[in-house]
Amino acid sequence: MTTISGTTLLTWCRERLAEGGTPASLAWLLDVGAGLARRRYHSLVLHPQAAIQLSRDLDELTHLWRRHLNQVPLQYLLGLCPWREFLLTVTPGVLIPRPETELLVDVATSLMEKGATGAGLWADLGTGSGCLALALAKAFPRRHGVAVDQDPAAVAVATRNLKFVAQRVQVLAGNWWEPLRPWWGHLTMVVSNPPYIPTPTLPQLDPVVRCHEPHPALDGGPDGLQSFRALLAGVSALAPGGWLVVEHGQGQAPALEPLFAAAGLTAIRRHQDLEGNDRFLAASAPHHWP
Ligand code: GLN
Repeated sequence: MTTISGTTLLTWCRERLAEGGTPASLAWLLDVGAGLARRRYHSLVLHPQAAIQLSRDLDELTHLWRRHLNQVPLQYLLGLCPWREFLLTVTPGVLIPRPETELLVDVATSLMEKGATGAGLWADLGTGSGCLALALAKAFPRRHGVAVDQDPAAVAVATRNLKFVAQRVQVLAGNWWEPLRPWWGHLTMVVSNPPYIPTPTLPQLDPVVRCHEPHPALDGGPDGLQSFRALLAGVSALAPGGWLVVEHGQGQAPALEPLFAAAGLTAIRRHQDLEGNDRFLAASAPHHWP
């Protein structure tokens, strides 16, 4: 803990912003990295005389800010990412959870709430940091789930993020549905935010993403749809009437819908992000596979 005057902090903020970056990112660094509530940050100008307590000293924060200005995501620098009501551990081995992925949770939970009994198991395929699994575990405290990732680095991070719900959520290493074999036929909700960026467009990604986030978590193959094909190849593991809910890239819904239908899924429905773009697809396994 370090205590400084608001005036000192205000001067420091002005110096940092003169080097580059945005006030929003600086507020993020002070909040997540030094425990300064946004409210305090925004009231600095009005009440500069108040003493401020920070959990990191200014030299350390300056160092982090400069690394951030060199395009390193703040989340990786701090090893933390706020997402929904959680503060998740993140490392460069996992994708930084995106705000829009929070909406996938809303789609899945509303379908689960409608689904009568609450029986059956949920799963998150390609869990990465474990963010989706944690949100589902929180939303359904009496249900059990499984989070799967093929990358041992992601399994380690997800295990850490899910340790408070470890009695109800298993984290398993493996390829898509394969580790779920013991529960095939009993999966009532499967969610996934798989890699979906077409390989040819990876070089066009923002350098912050391209240079630091794990490409296996982004690269969806030549047309961006490879991981959806792998997911759809396993949908017979869903319980009758069970749901598959995925996040996808902008513009991919028209190509995905026929693939979902060809896999035998029904009740295929698009869902939108906050800007109104189709970004999620939900579909149900039939009550009897043909
Ligand atoms: N939304 C991420 C991005 O644009 C991609 C996530 C993914 O491929 N699943 O960087």
